[in-house]
Amino acid sequence: MAEHTPMIKQYLTIKAQYLDAFLFFRLGDFYEMFFDDAKLASQELEITLTSRGTGTDSERIPMCGVPHHAAEHYIQQLIEKGYKVALCEQTEDPKHAKGVVRREVVKLITPGTVMEGKIIQEKENNYIASVTDFLDDTYGFALTDLTTGENYVTLLQGSWQDVINEIATSGAKEIIFATNHCETKIKQLLQQIQVTPSYEDSEQPPEAFLALCVELEQQKLLQTFGRLSSYLVRTQKRSLDHLQPVVYFTPTEYMRLDLHSKRNLELIETIRDKKKKGSLLWLVDKTVTAMGGRLLKQWIERPLINKEQIEKRLSMVETLLGEFFKREELREALKEVYDLERLAGKVAYGNVNARELVQLKRSLQQIPNIVLTVQELKNPYGEELVNDIDLCEDLLTTLANSLKEDPPISIKEGGIIRDGYNAQLDQYRDASRNGKSWITELEQKERQVTGIRSLKVGYNKVFGYYIEVTRANLANLPEGRYERKQTLSNAERFITPELKEKETLILEAEEKIEQLEYDLFLQIREDVKRYISKLQFVAKKVSELDCLQSFALVSEGNHYTKPEFNEDRQIVIVEGRHPVVEKVLQSGEYVPNDVQMNKEREILLITGPNMAGKSTYMRQLALISILAQVGCYVPATSAVIPIFDQVFTRIGAADDLASGQSTFMVEMLETKNAISKATQESLILLDEIGRGTSTYDGMALAQAIIEYIHEEVGAKTLFSTHYHELTILEEQLTSLKNVHVSAVEESGKVVFLHKVVDGQADKSYGIYVAELADLPLQVISRAKTILATLENQPKVKQITEPEEPIQLSLFTENTEVAKKQSKASVSDDEKKVLASLKKIDILNLTP
Ligand code: ADP
Repeated sequence: MAEHTPMIKQYLTIKAQYLDAFLFFRLGDFYEMFFDDAKLASQELEITLTSRGTGTDSERIPMCGVPHHAAEHYIQQLIEKGYKVALCEQTEDPKHAKGVVRREVVKLITPGTVMEGKIIQEKENNYIASVTDFLDDTYGFALTDLTTGENYVTLLQGSWQDVINEIATSGAKEIIFATNHCETKIKQLLQQIQVTPSYEDSEQPPEAFLALCVELEQQKLLQTFGRLSSYLVRTQKRSLDHLQPVVYFTPTEYMRLDLHSKRNLELIETIRDKKKKGSLLWLVDKTVTAMGGRLLKQWIERPLINKEQIEKRLSMVETLLGEFFKREELREALKEVYDLERLAGKVAYGNVNARELVQLKRSLQQIPNIVLTVQELKNPYGEELVNDIDLCEDLLTTLANSLKEDPPISIKEGGIIRDGYNAQLDQYRDASRNGKSWITELEQKERQVTGIRSLKVGYNKVFGYYIEVTRANLANLPEGRYERKQTLSNAERFITPELKEKETLILEAEEKIEQLEYDLFLQIREDVKRYISKLQFVAKKVSELDCLQSFALVSEGNHYTKPEFNEDRQIVIVEGRHPVVEKVLQSGEYVPNDVQMNKEREILLITGPNMAGKSTYMRQLALISILAQVGCYVPATSAVIPIFDQVFTRIGAADDLASGQSTFMVEMLETKNAISKATQESLILLDEIGRGTSTYDGMALAQAIIEYIHEEVGAKTLFSTHYHELTILEEQLTSLKNVHVSAVEESGKVVFLHKVVDGQADKSYGIYVAELADLPLQVISRAKTILATLENQPKVKQITEPEEPIQLSLFTENTEVAKKQSKASVSDDEKKVLASLKKIDILNLTP
């Protein structure tokens, strides 16, 4: 450091405090980056890497920079890639600086704290989270969305993987840990989800946040939220007035869905291309407000388990379905409602503009209509939603009286405030208008006096107002009438003292107008600030109404039915459909399927050829349950179902590879997760378990797992398998039933009927599927020959009780086989070899 210039020394000192961020170091009109920051930034932003001499000139420092006026764009790019940016400004006037200008980081921008740009999706929350490990298998977990002001906190009990699931559910973009948080755990998390880690050790909520935490009695919750809020205050250095009181939530109040299940079931995005299109959320999202869209996503991620709450939503959907016109009215009104939550955030942040406040006004104008429409529906839950809404009439009046209909985006150039709102402003405007009309009259007057019809009065920024006469007409101009100001190629421009006098008046008035409009606007913005929490309340209710109307619309459009819940753990679904698959198929193509499960049918063992529709059938049941528990109607003719506390799925997914574990290992881990956590109230979907290993191995595992679920867990289970040998379990396990997806053979070709019926499939149609896939004829006919041979061999015996191990054991000496071996006669030579073999230290041999 000694040999660096004072400025680079200053840079290094500041950079040392922001090691995990790009330091944007203000140098005149540029933000510069140096050293490794410069190298990485030049790659990520595709900007030129240059260098700069050090004090001693012995080596050069890598450097790159972006113009300060374009910095926004570059910062966004880095944030989207998950990086952080520390903005370091000159905090004193270079003219007054002695030595190096003082510089300070004024803001740390991170993926979890940005307020604008592409990363902020209209229909998605942008959460930042904090996690505290209390080292007793409890973890504190807090969430904040700075754009909407929402705050949540909870305590999670269980394994680190459970915490990872919870974080994944939240979709948080950034997680704050204590600096001594276990590194292995953080690594494990980063392997599974894309999120930016940050660190904060303070666990004491800053002063300004204490009021938000009054509900949090538990020390652990306080500490967890303390970490999050300390980080926000430390890095944001701005008003966070819009943050709402912290809500304590318990994940156990919702249906538990682990990370893999959510992905497998494609609730929020598809597995293949991670797009919303094709997911359950995509299907049911007919919300018309951004807030509603965000809430719907939360709902889908956390289906309810409380019957009363579910019924409330369902009853409102039912009411809306019965009232087409009112529903349309509600929908139309909702369309006019702007994103009140994020607007409240902008108001607090101080970057809301007049155009947005006009949108706020238009939103507020809709509220009475919305409240009335919902009240007329006479649904108790609807009334509960709207009865406490404050119409904010005073605010509406202020906004309506003060703001012009179509103000500019800039708040410093006037054009914002209505006439009649402020007397002083009206006076200035009069002055300006009078001056302008005097000038218009001047043009007429001078044309008459001089007889020059083309004479005109104009204005430009440099010379102000002028009188222009074309060269051809100059001769007609009385000598000395005007003062010459500017000569153009074909005209002369003049002024008069009177014209300049009026000009000064007009310009002064306009300057005052701009200033006064700006001041008035700031006042209005302050007024709005007092309404932040009321607006947030309205936002909450409006988003719920939006979700419910969305459910009604979807249910009607797709012919869904109202689900019924029962406490006897029965499932009777008549003509159920997979909501998304049905949608992408041509109409009429989807074959509906019944599901019947009860005491005798706790486990359904599903067999059938590949591509027959086994996994679609399994997902169908899960999706119907999830839809029902978020309060939406379901794709079926009728549906009686229990309320599931958890849904587990193990359905082969492409994303296993990404996590770096072998597919089979993932399969086993997920299976373990399912069978160790599931209760009688849970639903387990296991697809082709055991496929990832050798046949006997896989079959043995599959059977053992089924038996375990049957004996120990008792969860409703759908188990698909291509081990037809397992169908014999129906005879041994009282609550297991075989079902199969039927297919028929027609003139040597297989036709899938996609119909699930009782009983086992009699044939594996693999070869026919291969035929469908157009494998070479040679392969197909050879396979048929081999199959015929195999089928003539004695059947593999179903193992019901463990028999003698068939494999030779290297390690146990007391098995029958070993005993037989030891009895056999052994020659002396063989004895020697055996002796030396025995001496080998196997564990320490190299390959
Ligand atoms: P499996 O799990 O038996 O291999 P899938 O459930 O993946 O089969 O289904 C394969 C394809 O069959 C699906 O992509 C879908 O297009 C079609 N399919 C499945 N179930 C049905 C159904 N009930 N009606 C119509 N088509 C279906």
